[in-house]
Amino acid sequence: MKNVSNKIAPIRSVKGTRDLLPPETGLWQRVEDESRRTFAAYNFQEIRTPILEATALFSRSVGEDTDIVMKEMYTFDDRDRESLTLRPEATASVVRAYIEHSLFNEGRLHKLYYIGPMFRRERPQKGRYRQFYQIGAEVLGSDHPSIDAEMLEMLVLLLERLGLSGFSLLLNSVGCSKCRPQYVKTLRQALQSVKANMCADCQRRADTNPLRVLDCKVEADQPIIERLPHIVEHLDPECRQHFDAVTADLDERGVAYTLSPRLVRGLDYYTRTTFEITSSVLGAQNALLGGGRYDGLSEMIGGPPTPGFGVAIGEDRLVLAVAEAAKDKTGPAASQLDVYIAWMGDAALAPATVLARQLRRDGLRVEIGYEPAKLKKSLGLASKLGARFAVIIGEGELSTGRYQVKDMSAGAQKELEPAQIAEYLKAALAK
Ligand code: AMP
Repeated sequence: MKNVSNKIAPIRSVKGTRDLLPPETGLWQRVEDESRRTFAAYNFQEIRTPILEATALFSRSVGEDTDIVMKEMYTFDDRDRESLTLRPEATASVVRAYIEHSLFNEGRLHKLYYIGPMFRRERPQKGRYRQFYQIGAEVLGSDHPSIDAEMLEMLVLLLERLGLSGFSLLLNSVGCSKCRPQYVKTLRQALQSVKANMCADCQRRADTNPLRVLDCKVEADQPIIERLPHIVEHLDPECRQHFDAVTADLDERGVAYTLSPRLVRGLDYYTRTTFEITSSVLGAQNALLGGGRYDGLSEMIGGPPTPGFGVAIGEDRLVLAVAEAAKDKTGPAASQLDVYIAWMGDAALAPATVLARQLRRDGLRVEIGYEPAKLKKSLGLASKLGARFAVIIGEGELSTGRYQVKDMSAGAQKELEPAQIAEYLKAALAK
């Protein structure tokens, strides 16, 4: 048989998706660890929902006339014809789970966070992918303005802990189902005289969903949008009071923000407070995270009235920003490996394996090669792997029962019995 394997084109990852490789994955872990730690400090607990959901969950909550639902969802018919969608966001899923498990019966607040992949068929570019990751937090069961302010305080703490500066918190209120229709009417009227000069999407939205015009990204439309009426000037007294209370609370907490009248966000379920944090290090895709209040979402998907407030952080962009911020401050990444075990001669392999197991059980990060190698090659490999120490076990060490422990950067060497090595290394590594 002819070997044809070299004629087959290698299969590549799908457009807009990517592999995350070490050492970058170390940065992702750091971002996730810091998020978990910060969420825990504010009493959030983790929720994990499925990636696959019924399509109606998103069309009803995110909104039929949004870019996400109209153009970006990965939707397909399952074998039994049920329409399924790879989640484009997770707030709707969290609220679905909240309703499905009757968490509202517990008569208390629920503070939940999630970390995971989302899917949107957008045009890929730096910071924008078709499979991307979000770290999100949701508070269900209260419309108190301090819930909004506390979450924003938490987000600022998280970004600071990750070493970020140069970010801005943009804030707006989009009113509620009582006052927004009146504003939408005003907006629709204002659009009638200018829409002919706008992009095709805006011309359509001016009639179907005028609010969406405000988040149009087309450059030529921007001066027109700037002159449209602002929603904050059309809030009813309750929404106005709520927004004033949020900003007053933020002032008390010392959380800085900028009022941003156009910030309506690309999803239909938002009510009252909306926000975004942008970062100056990110370039074109500068929105690091966004969110807001969604007091009507539960009812949109068949649940009881449940106020909610949440955030979705773009993890891909957060990692980019953290990497960017760390560039000027730190040298090369810290070593991932504590010890490399270099053994010479067949008789040394078994004791080397035993030592590796002991050191690993003691919590040290250990590597051992199984192919026989000369000392020089083994030490070369140890330094390539970034090992802080090497333990050398050859014929001489086997006969004395004392192994050589080499500090890879200082070059100094010490002779120790195997049982002493773990303690010695732990003390040395802690310095
Ligand atoms: P959204 O769910 O649209 O409110 O987005 C929340 C955050 O998720 C944004 O601020 C971005 O940081 C991030 N995000 C949204 N879409 C993408 C994407 N296609 N690729 C990477 N990050 C995204």
